[in-house]
Amino acid sequence: MKTIGHYIDGQTTVVTSARTAPVFEPATGRIAAQVALATVAEVNAAVEAATAAFPAWAETSPLKRSRIMFKFKELLDRHHAELAATITREHGKVHSDAMGEVTRGIEIVEFACGIPHLMKGSHSDNIGGGIDNWSLRQPMGVVAGITPFNFPVMVPMWMFPLAIACGNTFILKPSERDPSASLMLAELLQEAGLPKGVFNVVQGDKTAVDALIAHPNVDALSFVGSTPIAHYIYSEGTRLGKRVQALGGAKNHLVVMPDADLEQATDALIGAAYGSAGERCMAISVAVAVGDVGDLLVEKLAARAKSLVIGDGTDQTSEMGPLVTAAHKEKVESYIANGVKEGAKLLVDGRGFVVAEREQGFFLGATLFDHVTTNMTIYRDEIFGPVLAIVRVPDLSSAVNMINAHEFGNGVSCYTTSGAVAREFSRRIKVGMVGINVPIPVPMAWHSFGGWKRSLFGDHHAYGEEGIRFYTRYKSIMQRWPDAIGKGAEFSMPVAK
Ligand code: NAD
Repeated sequence: MKTIGHYIDGQTTVVTSARTAPVFEPATGRIAAQVALATVAEVNAAVEAATAAFPAWAETSPLKRSRIMFKFKELLDRHHAELAATITREHGKVHSDAMGEVTRGIEIVEFACGIPHLMKGSHSDNIGGGIDNWSLRQPMGVVAGITPFNFPVMVPMWMFPLAIACGNTFILKPSERDPSASLMLAELLQEAGLPKGVFNVVQGDKTAVDALIAHPNVDALSFVGSTPIAHYIYSEGTRLGKRVQALGGAKNHLVVMPDADLEQATDALIGAAYGSAGERCMAISVAVAVGDVGDLLVEKLAARAKSLVIGDGTDQTSEMGPLVTAAHKEKVESYIANGVKEGAKLLVDGRGFVVAEREQGFFLGATLFDHVTTNMTIYRDEIFGPVLAIVRVPDLSSAVNMINAHEFGNGVSCYTTSGAVAREFSRRIKVGMVGINVPIPVPMAWHSFGGWKRSLFGDHHAYGEEGIRFYTRYKSIMQRWPDAIGKGAEFSMPVAK
């Protein structure tokens, strides 16, 4: 069986890891390969390679770094469909969705191509006494990125294009559930002319992550994944004095106001709840029906959920693919059982769903609950599957207060035809990314991505300007040349004259 290995110092390495994990093909349920789980020594080798490559790469002019990004972008365009096919094979999402994922990753590379401009500092001429003061940004050093299974191309590309363009060297620790795309990205970077050691991949699990956190040469950690692990990595990393951004889980609400266009809101809910089988951190998992909109909305949603086309992601007609593993499918099923036990009304039950000729695949049908209340686990927890919960509230204020009280604050959306409602909602809501009549408001590459509350630990959101800040250190320089020197020692606090 094929073993998916690491990529260290410009080469696909010989794997010495004794431990491996199976990599499934979720649509068929078969084991397609095994992935190496890095030892501490392998992680250390990657950090050594990144440490050695850093001085020369940091000294490479931003313009030259940007030219490599341009070339990388060209190669990504050329291999777009191939990358998407790899995502579909190991993750399960439908091909069109995987193509979209790659596009959103490419957009970050396009942004990173502008690095000479993005890293430009600011200058104050003659602040007094022949002195000039300016500020600039310099790379951090060795940066590690630890990423989740649900976007094996896009989420790593929230990180490394900017980190590398800023002059850092990078070690990616992808999800062990869909590791192949990481090696394709490494090869394309090499083909684009990236010097060896600037981008490295270590496959693995907790052992690899802990070794990256503990290594004194790793200066910064970017993490995206579930909240308990995000919290752990943030606490451990910052305890050791590293810079850390750790994006966590979510429970995203979509509020439907009585004045909303119900056809639009239904389309939005169906796509955002069941797209990618609900395995998106921006998936909508709670529909908040305001006032008397509930009955009609429920009727429309139930009809659509029952007729969803579910199948192999490689089938062009499929709207939703399988879940990532059998274990994850079982976890989602146990949440459905809990919802029933806790008294929610199960309108559409996705359990027991079988796709012909794919009987061993990890499929689950679309599931819809009505009359969900805030004390139920299906409301409180992130399920990360195709399960939509409907909560009914009397008015906008109740909707806002309920969402603000939730532990997560990643994304949110409000469907309304009132400008006043839209304005009040977006100002009062305690959530990082807000959509008005937009179900999944993932910011563009030149804005930044991140949630509030327990959806993000750290001070910086991902990519965009926040990404540039995260991957660089700020330096202020004050300079005076000999002509202006010679006034003798000064003992009072220097002030501009
Ligand atoms: P996960 O937390 O299980 O794994 C994420 C990464 O952490 C993987 O690389 C994994 O190998 C590693 N990891 C797992 N357990 C670890 C441990 N005990 N110690 C150290 N490292 C460990 O997440 P997942 O199941 O791969 O992805 C789904 C989760 O990611 C969901 O909670 C989803 O909301 C979240 N997510 C969040 C965002 C966001 O931007 N906020 C984006 C995508 C996914």
